[in-house]
Amino acid sequence: MSEPRLELTTATRRGFLLAGLGFVMTACSKTQEAVTMLPAPAWDMHPTPGPRLAQPVPAAAAGPVRSRAEWATGAPVPALMDPMAPIRHVTIHHDGMQPFHGSDDRAAEGRLDAIRRAHRSKDWGDIGYHFAVDRAGNVWEARPLRYQGAHVKNCNEGNIGIVVLGNFDRQRPTDTQVEALRGQTSMLMRVYGVPPRNLRTHQEWAATRCPGRHLQQYMVGARSNGWFG
Ligand SMILES: [Zn+2]
Repeated sequence: MSEPRLELTTATRRGFLLAGLGFVMTACSKTQEAVTMLPAPAWDMHPTPGPRLAQPVPAAAAGPVRSRAEWATGAPVPALMDPMAPIRHVTIHHDGMQPFHGSDDRAAEGRLDAIRRAHRSKDWGDIGYHFAVDRAGNVWEARPLRYQGAHVKNCNEGNIGIVVLGNFDRQRPTDTQVEALRGQTSMLMRVYGVPPRNLRTHQEWAATRCPGRHLQQYMVGARSNGWFG
């Protein structure tokens, strides 16, 4: 059996699985799409008045995003990354390492750079996620949004990856952390027109424990209450 056929079989199985979960398969397609619109740069994504802002802006939505330059000890390698396709999805992760209790900037910076080094060691062009949220509720820029992420195998096209620092199978996120996650995610959804049904957690794409049971529980409850978007 040729490799393309194997790939199709895998994709078909995933399609059945996702259909069973009520998801649409098209997002996972490997079809190349023309990049018709480059995303706005990360520093230019604060909500501005416009047709997508019919809903009130949550209090946490307009918080500053800390620059990648504040924490990364190495530059991205553009040759190892694809440009970002038009944005259609946002996916939430935890880092899944040892439980993390650091609440100051240095702790968050060290954690982020450890993740970046681990991802670079796989020959990825940079840390795989686009944004990170620390225990104190700070939002950090990670992989620049002009590049496609590396956070959901075969489903990274047009998919923003947000990692919440910690291991939420073994600890709970802080209140300020989930509030910052909600604010940043909602802002991105509005800016890029991502509908609530296209906000997923990693385990809603693939067989993984990510983002851990406590964060998964929060996401399911918060989404059903309409707290995102
Ligand atoms: Zn994940």
